[in-house]
Amino acid sequence: MMKKLLLFVLDGLGDRPNPQLNGETPLQAAYRPNLNALVSTGLGGMMFPVRKGLVCGSDTSHLSLLGYDPEKVYTGRGPFEAMGLGIVAEPGDIAFRANFATRSRDGIISDRRAGRDIPESGSLAKKISFSMNGAEFIVKEGVEHRAALVIRGKGLSPEVSDSDPHEQGRAPRKVLPLDDNAKHTADLVNEYLERVRTILDSSPENRDRESKGKPAANELLLRGAGITPRLQPFREKYDLDGACLAGIPLITGIGNLAGLHLLKHPGATGRVDTDYNGKVKAAIRALDSHDFVIVNIKAPDIAGHDGDPLLKRDVIEKIDSALGQTFELSDSVVTCVTGDHSTPCASKEHSGDPVPILFSTSGMRRNNVRQFDEVNCCRSGFNLLSGDVMPMLMQLSDRLEKYGA
Ligand code: ZN
Ligand code: ZN
Repeated sequence: MMKKLLLFVLDGLGDRPNPQLNGETPLQAAYRPNLNALVSTGLGGMMFPVRKGLVCGSDTSHLSLLGYDPEKVYTGRGPFEAMGLGIVAEPGDIAFRANFATRSRDGIISDRRAGRDIPESGSLAKKISFSMNGAEFIVKEGVEHRAALVIRGKGLSPEVSDSDPHEQGRAPRKVLPLDDNAKHTADLVNEYLERVRTILDSSPENRDRESKGKPAANELLLRGAGITPRLQPFREKYDLDGACLAGIPLITGIGNLAGLHLLKHPGATGRVDTDYNGKVKAAIRALDSHDFVIVNIKAPDIAGHDGDPLLKRDVIEKIDSALGQTFELSDSVVTCVTGDHSTPCASKEHSGDPVPILFSTSGMRRNNVRQFDEVNCCRSGFNLLSGDVMPMLMQLSDRLEKYGA
């Protein structure tokens, strides 16, 4: 019987020994009977996200986990930044990372971040989202001065330069085509930015900011153009009907590009207060109508970026408790639990350290790992790359075809 596949990605799971936890990692310090039981019934090892020597973002790592080589399909941060802010990017869309900035009367950028504090950025973003010359421009605000711009239309190219001068005291740059096919896009973006300047200069939000002595958010600086990749549909790649459950738009955006069915669970917030039990239950229920479900749980990464090892340990304990629901499935489902990268609390940023991984199902081979953590999984000597995860799942679920006679 072909089994179904259930992949849990605990975001930023990996860590380093932490003095606040007596030199243990948050995963080691967590009470985790279910993760330990799962690894004891299967294989435990270590996984390098994408490959050794890379510090991965969640986007590149999830692409690789799903079997898409980011070094082929990832052409720039722009489209993924935009998806992270909630723009549903479509293949072929051009996207930039953007900053609201302050342009003084002489046309010079006096503050690349417009004072950082821009509560008006949402309403400004709406005002500079419009259609022009057959293309649609969509701006979405992020935290502080950050934003993203997506351009949708025919014949667009990502081979254009930044308008961001990357330092203060200079004028915004003209966007230049970097190859022969990009002239139309460069012209279009320059004309758009002229209109944006007029709109932002005369906006009531900016007049209000200036009257309060705040720097105007009257320039949109663009950088890092990329094209939203066209991914081979997941169904075509694996003959699997797949679904994705995630609380953050970056991961649902990637699921969308892969053609996965996007599951909604109202309690999945993408924060540490997410409904862990409900999320695992929703994933299990989705297996009734899908062959494959990927679940992203963001909380460990948030605790890592906050530099809070106690919080990270606590959210891992909640996840462990919720994962208890998966045991009843082991005859019909292959379960994999791993992280997309390490986010050590000590550095508050992603690192290139490998992450622990487990595969569990009834009747499979086992190795000697009894505790799921960075140290015990490393001792097993079972090492893989994130691109090996789908092939492993396909093999353990008896879905691979014979190679040869
Ligand atoms: Zn991540
Ligand atoms: Zn992160």
